[in-house]
Amino acid sequence: MNISAVVQKMVNSEKSGVMFTSNPTTGAPEAIIESSWGLGEAIVSGSVSPDTYTIDRKTRQIKVNIATKKIMVVKDQKTGETITKEVPADLQNKRVLSDGELNTILDLGELIEEHYESPQDIEFAIENGEVFIVQSRPVTTIKSGGAEQKTVTASDAEKLLEGLGASPGQVSGQVKIIRSVDELERVLQGDILVTPMTSPDMVPAMRRAAAIVTDEGGLTSHAAIVSRELGVPAVVGTKEATKKLTDGMFVTVDGEKGIIFSGVLERAEVTPAAGAVTVAASKPITATEVKVNVSIAEATERAVATRADGVGLLRVEHMILGMGKHPHWYIAHNQQDVFIRELQKGIRTVVDAFFPRPVWVRTLDAPTDEFREMEGGEGEPIEPNPMLGWRGIRRDLRDVEVFKMQLQTFKNLIDDGYNNIGIMLPLVQHQDEVRQAKQILAEMGIDFGKIDVGIMIEIPASALIIDDLIAEGIDFVSFGTNDLTQYTLAVDRNNENVAALYNEQHPAVLKLIEYVIRHCKKAGVVTSICGQAGSNPKMADKLVRMGISSLSSNIDAVERVREAVARTEARIVLEASRDLTNGD
Ligand code: PEP
Ligand code: MG
Repeated sequence: MNISAVVQKMVNSEKSGVMFTSNPTTGAPEAIIESSWGLGEAIVSGSVSPDTYTIDRKTRQIKVNIATKKIMVVKDQKTGETITKEVPADLQNKRVLSDGELNTILDLGELIEEHYESPQDIEFAIENGEVFIVQSRPVTTIKSGGAEQKTVTASDAEKLLEGLGASPGQVSGQVKIIRSVDELERVLQGDILVTPMTSPDMVPAMRRAAAIVTDEGGLTSHAAIVSRELGVPAVVGTKEATKKLTDGMFVTVDGEKGIIFSGVLERAEVTPAAGAVTVAASKPITATEVKVNVSIAEATERAVATRADGVGLLRVEHMILGMGKHPHWYIAHNQQDVFIRELQKGIRTVVDAFFPRPVWVRTLDAPTDEFREMEGGEGEPIEPNPMLGWRGIRRDLRDVEVFKMQLQTFKNLIDDGYNNIGIMLPLVQHQDEVRQAKQILAEMGIDFGKIDVGIMIEIPASALIIDDLIAEGIDFVSFGTNDLTQYTLAVDRNNENVAALYNEQHPAVLKLIEYVIRHCKKAGVVTSICGQAGSNPKMADKLVRMGISSLSSNIDAVERVREAVARTEARIVLEASRDLTNGD
């Protein structure tokens, strides 16, 4: 056997990327080009969200989707090794490739495609403005290397699996089963990502996916929250997707009904909806504010497009878990400033986009089992039931340095003029926690005259002692019905065996909510909801009738909820006028 070794000079690229000369899902004659700063490693490993350019091969019309590119891989001039570093701030949201560069890359791609007589998956690198092609291989998803892209009608589509419809939309694509983050680069634009459970380091691949299917998780799991925010259809908690589906097969995912069919359903979109948010031309003005929940900075644009009245819940844990290193790692390595800078960047994106509309940023609430996965998280205690364990404000009051790093982040942003920030404390159980937390806020120089401070109502105890909590001086409360339901009904929100008993509209949950709203109204404290129930129009009707001040919904539900709120408010007026005419 003859072996040859090819030694090439490395292209020390300032930008790089990947091109499919034809759409890898549909085979349509449009080139999909992804590009980011630095060497190509960051893109192919899936560790950066790249810009995406779609070029119509006939007209050469270009559609551009610019992403926030956080990291880049570059050559260290001293050691010659490759290193990963942060993309300079002025480049993060800057478009990487010009129209001229895109056309040059596509010209080269068309030549290669002609030579090999099949659509190509090409890697390119640009050094000093010169385009180098560093790899080309056939696109295996088109003309199917084994799997057949079978089109079926709705009536003869075979149902393969069922789970929870976590993010709406119906799409078809090719299954990629991912068991570890090292395999993420296998997920190409338009694939169906199938995995036991998603984690924060999977977000770039989740963005590329046409749909997401998981074995585990419920409607408030990482997969469900992030896919909804990215606008990617998802079915979670199928129990056996990674066993029942096979790599390379074509399926259709219905993220609304929670079903996976075999083949490409006639009606299904075959290209991802690209996270588009559709909003009606005119929006009803409602007396009850309708806000939006945000968990990842990448979702900001879609969240703003809903024209929500603010952000009723900005979860910081996905941003923190997404950093990959445990907060204690930053403390142990004396890099608190890096943690603060990173977190600040994510929060700033949201508070800036919504300014002057309020953004209630919630302090960290991640259970110990999620923290343990992170670098430096080995010391996390092993708890028999993390949902009832060391999380939320009870943790931050003992792990004060981590609490203070978060508060420093908020303080810096408030000092920069973002007085639209509200600070929200999760999992409050007793008034002492509010008092202690406010004391630390004050020590950190947070001025209660400038911003609002509020609490989540997630534990029945906090609902029942609402008067004592109000007495500590809070500006708002927000119902975390995901937790309030699990703690009121003794139903673990992540346990499929008892999922049928999980009911956010159980009379006991509604009674607690009604009690809190009544007492808060009397005291002039603003009330809101940011749990999953706030995305349900039926719940919206009930809450508006109870007199809630605002609701905060998932991005995809804002419009629906706004309409429900408007209808209920109109009915209340109508009912009142009928009562008047009837002399009641
Ligand atoms: C809730 O409990 O309803 C809530 C919004 O918080 P999380 O889902 O993050 O626990
Ligand atoms: Mg909660």
